[in-house]
Amino acid sequence: MIHYKLLTPGPLTTSHSVKKEMLVDHCTWDDDYKQITQKIRKELLKLAHVSEEEYTAVLMQGSGSFGVESVLTSVIGQNDKLLIIVNGAYGERMISICQHAKINYTVYQEVYDQVPSAEKTAEILAEDPAITHVAMVHSETTSGILNDIASITKEVKAAGKTMIVDAMSSFAGVDIEVGGLGIDFLISSANKCIQGVPGFSFIICNRKKLMESEGKARSLSLDLYDQWKTMEKDGKWRFTSPTHTVLAFAKALEELEEEGGIPARSKRYYDNNHLLIQKMKEMGIRSYIGGEYQGPIITTFFYPEQSSFSFPEMYEYVKSRGYAIYPGKVTDADTFRIGNIGEIYKEDIEKLCEIFKEFFESRKAE
Ligand SMILES: *Cc1c(COP(=O)(O)O)cnc(C)c1O
Repeated sequence: MIHYKLLTPGPLTTSHSVKKEMLVDHCTWDDDYKQITQKIRKELLKLAHVSEEEYTAVLMQGSGSFGVESVLTSVIGQNDKLLIIVNGAYGERMISICQHAKINYTVYQEVYDQVPSAEKTAEILAEDPAITHVAMVHSETTSGILNDIASITKEVKAAGKTMIVDAMSSFAGVDIEVGGLGIDFLISSANKCIQGVPGFSFIICNRKKLMESEGKARSLSLDLYDQWKTMEKDGKWRFTSPTHTVLAFAKALEELEEEGGIPARSKRYYDNNHLLIQKMKEMGIRSYIGGEYQGPIITTFFYPEQSSFSFPEMYEYVKSRGYAIYPGKVTDADTFRIGNIGEIYKEDIEKLCEIFKEFFESRKAE
C-alpha cells in the first residue's frame, strides 16, 4: 500500500489513534453505544457555543451533502421560499438540491473570488417578502474563500428569517458563535476539521425551528425532525449507523480537546496556511483569493507561468513523495488547490514546499 498524506479538505489525514478506534465491531442497540452518540451530540453543542435548552445536535448518515440536503428538504415547507447565496460549487449544490426536491428558491450570485455582501442581502430580503429562509456556505471549499456569515446573519435575523449555514469545511477549524450569531441550522461533517473519517454529517439545530419543521420533510431517510426524535430519546440512530465512523469521531473529539480545543486547532490551520502561501509566493506561485478573504482551510493557486507546466505531472511527482494535493478549476484561469487541515503540521508544509521547489527546478533545467 502507498502511504501519503492528504492535502485535501476532507477526507483528510487522521491520526493513527483515530484510525485504530475502527478495529472493533460495535453493536448499535446497547447502552454504551447510545451513550457515545449522546456524548458526541453534547460535545458538538459545546463547540458551537450553544445551550442544550436552545439548541440540539442531530447526526445524519451519509457525507456532508446528505446533511445539507436533509436540512433544505426538511425545514423549507411548501409555502416557503429560500434565498441561496452562492459564490462557489457548494452554493451551486444547494441550487441543485432545491431543483431535485422542487423547493421554491431564488439566488443571489456572487463571483467566486468575492464575498457576498450583507447590504445586498438585506436589499434582496426587503424586495422579496416571500423569502422565509436564507442559506449560504461559510468556507467555500471551491476557492478557499471565507465568507462573512456574521454580517449576513445579522441582516437575515433583523428581517426575521431562518438562517442556514453550510459550515462543512470550517466548523471546529474556525470558531463560530452559532448561538450568538443566531444561526438556526449549521451543517458540518465527520471528516473535516474535527478530523474524523467519512460516514456522517451533523446539524446544530435551533430547537424551536426544528420543532416547527415537523411533518415538512420531502424525504424519509433525510427527515431531520424524525432523525432527531429517535435520537433524542436515548441516542439511538433511526437506521443503521456508521458505527466505525462514530467510534473514530468520538476519539477525534477527544483529540481536539487535547490539542487545546478550537482556538489551538484554528491557530495551527492558520499558521499552516500562512506559511504555505508565503513559501509558494517565494516560488512565484500566486493565490487566487486576495489576502483579506483567504480562509485557513484550503488555498487555490494559479498554475506557474512555465509553458511546459503539466498539473498531472506535478501531481504524480508530489504524490510519489508523500503528499496528495487537489486539482480544481474555479475560473477560466487554471488553478490547483492545497488543503492544510487534518494531521498536517509546519514540517509537512516545509517538506511539501521543498518538493515543489525541486519539481519546478527540474522542469526549468529541461
Ligand atoms: C465537503 C463539503 C461539503 C460536503 O461534501 P461531501 O462530498 O458530500 O462530503 C459541502 N459543503 C462544503 C463547503 C464542503 O467543503
